[in-house]
Amino acid sequence: MREVDFAIVGGGPAGLAAAATLASARVHLPFMENAKILVVDEGNSDLKRAVLKNFPAAEVGIEGPKLLEEMKRRVKDLGVELLNDKVVRIEGTDGNFVLTTGGGEKIRAKKLILATGFHKFEIEGLPVEVIPHQKAPRPGKVQLKVDEKQKAAPGVYAAGLVAGAQTMVATAMGSGTEAALNLLSELAGKPLVVHDVLRGR
Ligand SMILES: Cc1cc2nc3c(=O)[nH]c(=O)nc-3n(C[C@H](O)[C@H](O)[C@H](O)COP(=O)(O)OP(=O)(O)OC[C@H]3O[C@@H](n4cnc5c(N)ncnc54)[C@H](O)[C@@H]3O)c2cc1C
Repeated sequence: MREVDFAIVGGGPAGLAAAATLASARVHLPFMENAKILVVDEGNSDLKRAVLKNFPAAEVGIEGPKLLEEMKRRVKDLGVELLNDKVVRIEGTDGNFVLTTGGGEKIRAKKLILATGFHKFEIEGLPVEVIPHQKAPRPGKVQLKVDEKQKAAPGVYAAGLVAGAQTMVATAMGSGTEAALNLLSELAGKPLVVHDVLRGR
């Protein structure tokens, strides 16, 4: 069985932003130094259908699939593992979750970030509540019920559209970053951010 510290389900903008934040914390937080971070992604991000003219972190008119591939490459460069598969079931409790994938893999993870988008939530086994999406422009979309820290259950954070974010790349990524910071803050026992500082400033 594959064993990781953090499993992120969903590799769209939210999941990748969460992964980058966790990975960049390795050099700042002693308890993160050897953290194994895995993103499991089925590969159906909404970004694959978008052309972006309102996301100033990339060139105007960048095609969504290109941006997604660039983000995946950067996250891999940070030492995050990516697995192309669908998570179908998650059992266990905080500190000891076991994910089962459609491809038959079993993954043990201490903490979870769910970043599965807003079309449907098909993972069985978790004590989370699926509710109608509160900010979607069209009916029929879903999110998880989360607290003010984006926590859906003990040890389980939600990120991006599944956490209730508006459907824009920047808001999904912001939500993914916040989920990761809230998780790290819980582990550290105090509020924190992850900043790398330009020398000489
Ligand atoms: C046609 C279109 C045009 C758009 N244009 C713009 C725009 O111009 N500007 C802008 O800012 N935004 C735009 N967006 C919105 C933007 O793409 C989304 O808001 C953003 O992709 C949401 O990010 P997310 O990570 O929350 O969800 P998603 O990008 O949907 O990613 C969720 C990921 O989770 C995976 N997943 C789900 N369940 C599982 C599971 N059980 N196991 C493994 N993986 C799973 C999915 O396959 C997917 O890869 C557009 C969207 C569309 C559809």
